[in-house]
Amino acid sequence: MIVTALPTGRRQAGLLEKLLATVRAEFRTEVYRPDPADPVFVAPQCAVADCDRVVAQLGLCNGHVIRWRQRGRPVLEEFLADPGPPVRGRQVLPSCRIGGCGYGRFGNGLCCKHYDRWVRAGRPAADQWHAPSLAAAGAVAAECRLPFCSLWVETPEKVFCQQHHDRWKRTNHRDVERFIVDCELNGTAAVDLRGLPPQLTLEFQYGLQCRADARHRTTPARYVMQAVRHARAAGVTSLLDLSEQQWRQQARTGRVRAPVLLLIEVRDAVELLRDGAGWENEFGRDVWRLERLPGITTPATATVPRPRVRLHFERIPQPWLRDLVERWLRLRLTSGLSITAAHTGLDALVCFAGFLAHAGVDRLADIDRPLLERHLAYVASQDGGHGLKKGRISSLNLFLQAIRQHRWDDSLPGTAAFCPGDIPPAPAATISRRLAEHVMAQVESEANLDRWHDPAGRLVTLILVRTGLRISSVVCLDFDCLVHDGQGAAYLRYFNTKMKREAAVPIDEHLEQAIHDQQRRVLDRWPDGTGVLFPRRHANASGRLRLSDSSYRQMLRRWLVTCDIRDEHGQPVHLTPHQWRHTFACRLINRDVPQEVVRVLLDHESSRMTAHYARITDQTVRRRWEAAMKVNIKGEHVTLTPDGPLGQAQWAKTRYGIATQTLPDGYCGLPVQKSCPHANACLTCPVFLTGPEFLPELRDQRTRTLTLIDNATNCGHTRTAEMNQQVADNLDRMIGELENSHDEPQETTHAG
Ligand SMILES: [Zn+2]
Ligand SMILES: [Zn+2]
Ligand SMILES: [Zn+2]
Repeated sequence: MIVTALPTGRRQAGLLEKLLATVRAEFRTEVYRPDPADPVFVAPQCAVADCDRVVAQLGLCNGHVIRWRQRGRPVLEEFLADPGPPVRGRQVLPSCRIGGCGYGRFGNGLCCKHYDRWVRAGRPAADQWHAPSLAAAGAVAAECRLPFCSLWVETPEKVFCQQHHDRWKRTNHRDVERFIVDCELNGTAAVDLRGLPPQLTLEFQYGLQCRADARHRTTPARYVMQAVRHARAAGVTSLLDLSEQQWRQQARTGRVRAPVLLLIEVRDAVELLRDGAGWENEFGRDVWRLERLPGITTPATATVPRPRVRLHFERIPQPWLRDLVERWLRLRLTSGLSITAAHTGLDALVCFAGFLAHAGVDRLADIDRPLLERHLAYVASQDGGHGLKKGRISSLNLFLQAIRQHRWDDSLPGTAAFCPGDIPPAPAATISRRLAEHVMAQVESEANLDRWHDPAGRLVTLILVRTGLRISSVVCLDFDCLVHDGQGAAYLRYFNTKMKREAAVPIDEHLEQAIHDQQRRVLDRWPDGTGVLFPRRHANASGRLRLSDSSYRQMLRRWLVTCDIRDEHGQPVHLTPHQWRHTFACRLINRDVPQEVVRVLLDHESSRMTAHYARITDQTVRRRWEAAMKVNIKGEHVTLTPDGPLGQAQWAKTRYGIATQTLPDGYCGLPVQKSCPHANACLTCPVFLTGPEFLPELRDQRTRTLTLIDNATNCGHTRTAEMNQQVADNLDRMIGELENSHDEPQETTHAG
């Protein structure tokens, strides 16, 4: 299916109509002046007091930056204390000091007419000279044409006061109206589209509107103006006159990247407006622009709503193969395949296309088992790791299956298939990448954590170290990521980016507090809320864009250097966030936390990976908790059904506590990190849990408690007797429940 292209002229005309219909009135102006508080077209004012010009760099306007450089770049405070006379702008110029005279100053505080007369009078002292009134001498002089100037015009043929007339003369007598607007715009944050071809003007106006609506990137007007200059220099009437690639080449001489990206973004938006989005436009093109395909799965970790991802089909030279591959990938993408998997699929077919060319095969009918066996050998001899080669074979197999299943082309021989044994097994798992405790001690030291400039970076680190989450899950945390169970213990709700599901992990009070602090900081900067816990710091006017994991990695690298973290050989440490996950798992297993608990805490689908951690830490898991039956102080069975994300995490939390806080006669159900408000009163505590393996201790304790009650009653200590009666009652209930429901307590004791 090929979309027939309209003749260029008709398409352009259609575009003009669409632009006219789409660009809103506020952007339909040749000079766009954003509001000073605009979140996108930011316009901060120069730091120099009384300067109303917009910041160019270092918090100073262009004029003041130049002056600061000329003075040899002094400390900024010093410069601000004495910035010198005002830079050229829109200040009110001083008028002649003679009362009633509206001409500009020339010398000795006088206008040039009064100065002339004062010189002719022999330069008398100020109080000795009776200055003549010039207003009375003739008709009232006109005021300067510049809107911010009220000085008088010196001769009738001029339109500006003397100083502004001189400024106008230096522009080679530019068109007066144009000069007036130039003077008004001088140093302001304005987008000046005057003099562009009409369609190009509309295109830029539309681009501004799109940027304003998206509220992502902050866009200083000077970037827009650089983009406008690029377009003007190219001499085009529409941004679509050049391809994206041509614009990139055209702008390669430009120093700043942002304006070029803006230009390409505007071109993209205009093209999208002309052609529309969707498969009918993209299908059949050599390059698919995935951001134009609504409805396909965007990765949960994407930091922008529609990442500019491309699939390049021109790398498949055989047209018959390319058609089939496009058809296959369209079906896969629309059925929810991830973009990464689409890339893998395309890579596999590009590789196969290369092999077909090499083997001289140019027909689907010639693809049979012997050819595929040659292809297996070809793939095996290429560069790349096991994962890449496996992906190439299994994707190609899926492709061949799809051709057969959907009857796309019946000429494919029935033997064209791979067999289960064709792909070599994965190499043995690599050795542990957990970090030495020596390194972890430096990472976790408060002094080093305080060296994070960005509190968000510090918090991300803490979460990674203490929960073992993947970095992709941490940067994706929602703003409301805290949940609490019935006992008030906190959990971090997160999205398992690998398994594509929600999960939760128990956290301690300190981490909970740190998350509250982060939420407060986010709301301070974005009072309307962001939806995400870690908004990226820059280019994020709405606050809804997430920190990317690559930004965090960059921050982490800098932090490791700042803290000078070294390994036991004194070498600087290079570590990845994922190593903390390995470390977390290994630490838990070393502390005898059951593998199944570790599996749930890490939200692994299978126990294979957890077993790997257990194996490499070389310790045996001693307790089989699944067999244990737990009873709380009310004598009720505690059902810890792993059901739903919180259920799973709650269950893991309890088990995690049990393994680490074993009491003489049972377990504490609180997470180990939480301090117990029921100090030493476990037998009356609502989170106390016990099991049949503790029956002998519970019976002993009942005997001791009954003796204590007898003694207390005899001595008249009623309060002590009452308290212990409660303990005795609880013990009775628990023992009764354990005895009744467990017919074979012996077996459970073995399990312990
Ligand atoms: Zn300034
Ligand atoms: Zn005067
Ligand atoms: Zn003037």
